[in-house]
Amino acid sequence: MIYDFVIVGGGSTGAVLAARLSENSGTSVLLLEAGPVEPDPEADRLGAVDFSHTGRDWGFQARTSGDATAPYPQGRTLGGGSSVNGGVALRGMPSDYDAWASPNWSWEAMAPCFRRLEDDPLGGDLHGMGGPIPIRRAAKDDLVAPQQQLLAAAEDNGLGWVDDHNDGVSEGIGPSPQNVVDGVRVSTAMGYLRPADGRPNLEIIGGAYAHHIVIERDRATAVAYSPSDGSLEQARGRHIVVCAGALNTPALLLRSGIGPVRDLEAVGIRSVVDLPGVGANLMEHVGAFIFVVPPEGAVTTDMVQHQLLIRYSSPQSPVTNDMQIGMMNHWDLSQNEPLAEVCGSELIWGICAGIQVPRSRGRLRVLSPDPGHPPVIDLNLLDSPDDIAQLVDGLRLCHRLATHEALSERFERVAVLGEASFAHGDDDALADYARQFSFPWYHASGTCRMGPDPDAGDVVDDFGRVHGIDRLSVFDASILPMIPRANTNLTCIAVGERAAELLR
Ligand SMILES: Cc1cc2nc3c(=O)[nH]c(=O)nc-3n(C[C@H](O)[C@H](O)[C@H](O)COP(=O)(O)OP(=O)(O)OC[C@H]3O[C@@H](n4cnc5c(N)ncnc54)[C@H](O)[C@@H]3O)c2cc1C
Repeated sequence: MIYDFVIVGGGSTGAVLAARLSENSGTSVLLLEAGPVEPDPEADRLGAVDFSHTGRDWGFQARTSGDATAPYPQGRTLGGGSSVNGGVALRGMPSDYDAWASPNWSWEAMAPCFRRLEDDPLGGDLHGMGGPIPIRRAAKDDLVAPQQQLLAAAEDNGLGWVDDHNDGVSEGIGPSPQNVVDGVRVSTAMGYLRPADGRPNLEIIGGAYAHHIVIERDRATAVAYSPSDGSLEQARGRHIVVCAGALNTPALLLRSGIGPVRDLEAVGIRSVVDLPGVGANLMEHVGAFIFVVPPEGAVTTDMVQHQLLIRYSSPQSPVTNDMQIGMMNHWDLSQNEPLAEVCGSELIWGICAGIQVPRSRGRLRVLSPDPGHPPVIDLNLLDSPDDIAQLVDGLRLCHRLATHEALSERFERVAVLGEASFAHGDDDALADYARQFSFPWYHASGTCRMGPDPDAGDVVDDFGRVHGIDRLSVFDASILPMIPRANTNLTCIAVGERAAELLR
């Protein structure tokens, strides 16, 4: 059997692509997914997220900053990240897409894709209704008390109310758009693939781990993969599309001999095409919390966690809307002994600031042709002094919010940091704190950058085609030339929508 399309990875992008391409009954599609493909209703409940410790995770470790390493969760299941993530459904700003590689990916080209994927009751010209992914927002009247208090504190700090964070212009505080209905995160597996179930021209194989791409005379012809029984099979396709995410996609290309020739030869992989950019340009949003210890009995763990989102422009950069702030109403640290010890409490809450346009860049490498070896992930967070300065400034705003009188009934003290750390003119203590307590938002992007120039580090062209290899394309977070100023899931789904148009 030779399929028209063999797609590797059924995540946020790949599931969309498989569903859209197979709408044409004359097109045969095989989707290979390394993780399980059976529905798991309990794991789909947002409250059940236990990121790195579930059976739906790749179990990767990454260097974050300095010498620190930490688990770096990535969904290993149908739906990929969209099946394990936090359910924030935020679009980037229109100019994010205009700044990408070409008119193929401009806001004009992407806006219809965002509308098509959405079922957003706001409707109108901006939003789609009836699409596969429901977008919901908490009504102002339904905000739980701590979120109402955050709103009061934010408004007092000059952040105005925003009805729709996805309108492409607004800054301020407003409801966080979520693709969550009745506590269930609607993944691409649910929204896109479930309705496609039973199509004779769409085959989905779960537990199918792609080892490498088979390349014959500069043309991709098949994917070598191990099914769950541990054997090695080949799936042949007229077109091979890799949608394995920003970590596994470059790892798969590198194992297939596509990458920096010297690095590949050094680890015993035969080079097929020299593309220095494979694994480079690793971008990630980075944030840090102000942790707050509440007075005894002032905080409970039974209320909804996160309803409001702040988007604002850092005074530290010329870019607009390049920061995000959110509040966790409660945080039970009984299973996180090290943090509980540092905070001096097993129950805290916190306000987190995150940089949306990081300057720091990381890199991913493979050290073996053996597909059983995980990639080496170096996020290199906060490498740029400008990133540190921006995060420090964000932490100061979080502190002003947390210590505002509107939140006083929940406030006993800021954990870890003394009040003196926030004195003006002294950023050193906050910078050290940012280095120690910053964390990645799990939005890895850019490791197979889209652009015209392979020698300058571009890996795919603006049709997603891998430079130098015929019939091989990549579509997922790895091709983003710049990370959007937003959580990345909705953008990856829109990339899947756009990819289907380009491949058709
Ligand atoms: C814990 C967590 C929380 C997050 N929270 C949010 C959030 O709230 N909002 C938001 O917008 N974004 C969030 N994100 C980010 C967002 O989910 C990702 O950016 C997005 O899912 C990436 O989509 P993708 O298609 O690039 O890759 P993925 O969705 O990761 O899909 C890749 C798929 O390929 C499969 N695969 C990989 N390698 C192979 C192989 N060799 N063979 C076969 N199959 C393979 C994987 O199992 C996976 O299913 C979060 C991510 C994580 C991990």
